Amino acid sequence: MIYKWLVPAWQQLLAQRTTLHHALLIHGPAGIGKSAFADELARSLLCESPLPDGAACGRCSACGWFAQGNHPDFRRLAPASVEEGGDSDAGAGAGEEPAGKAGGPSGSKSGGRSGSKPSRDIRIDQVRALERFTEVGGHRGATRIVLIDPGDAMNAAAANALLKTLEEPSGGTRFVLVTDRPDALPATIRSRCRTLALSLPPADEAAAWLAADVGVDLAQARAWLAAAGGAPLRARRFADPAQAAIHRLVVETVAGLPETGVVQAADALADVPPAIWVATLQAWVVDLQRVCVGAPPRYFPDRAERLGALARRAGLAALDRLAARLDRSARAVDHPLNPRLMVEDALLDVRAALTARAV
Ligand SMILES: [Zn+2]
Repeated sequence: MIYKWLVPAWQQLLAQRTTLHHALLIHGPAGIGKSAFADELARSLLCESPLPDGAACGRCSACGWFAQGNHPDFRRLAPASVEEGGDSDAGAGAGEEPAGKAGGPSGSKSGGRSGSKPSRDIRIDQVRALERFTEVGGHRGATRIVLIDPGDAMNAAAANALLKTLEEPSGGTRFVLVTDRPDALPATIRSRCRTLALSLPPADEAAAWLAADVGVDLAQARAWLAAAGGAPLRARRFADPAQAAIHRLVVETVAGLPETGVVQAADALADVPPAIWVATLQAWVVDLQRVCVGAPPRYFPDRAERLGALARRAGLAALDRLAARLDRSARAVDHPLNPRLMVEDALLDVRAALTARAV
């Protein structure tokens, strides 16, 4: 499906349907519906009797196979942890809708077969398995689609292997890559793709959609959206009481620093996936930076006073250093060597930053 705020971008893309570049990189913030958008694109490109505007008909056999996850000319590459029903939106926060990941042969399952934890990477054997797929002619027509989501989950070896295929595409094969973090993809991959940037919906439109979708009032919808940085699908997760409880716990813990001891705070976060607490901590620090330079908080407008007090104590230089340091943590959330150490290290740095001037 195409979420309504992405409809203008969708129509523009459909208008160029026949002249699309063979590799498309769809990027934009997490939680806006990029995955569903990419799925819909693949479906429409494979459809055998598209509607006048280029969208999939939903009735032909290609549409039927696609819906069942077994179109012979479609491959989906995702980390094994996603395919095996793990936490698909590894990015925490991410909250991208895993549209139609019904399984079937459309993705290579070679990722995590060793009996250990399913891999969070897209691995080289998954990419190599594509080579045969792209060399054999399409079963139904000329078009074959490879959807790689999230594209930044490819490890270095996988990205290298893909490069070869991207450089010499066999006729009719199209690649669609999806990512929240285009910078995390090798420049060599990016440069071989046409990019399509999707963006956050306007706040009012997002709030109206969310309120209607989950049946809450506009004020509640706005509060959730703020906490989700404006991304509607991330915000929608807060309608789930379990998710909302985790979010509250993380925010309370983060907001309690530096008065709360590091060990106590780390205990509180012990069972929270790193991707979630890192994302919240990053949002908290962004708000501290904003307040420090006189801007209103973006994520935690209801905690402006607390943010103001902490920001004055820390100073901008210390907050900037802290933000840079958390960026590094964010890159490691999928591969924490020692989650407990990771949380304690981060919290120690937060405490140091927030007491920078007090000493
Ligand atoms: Zn169709």
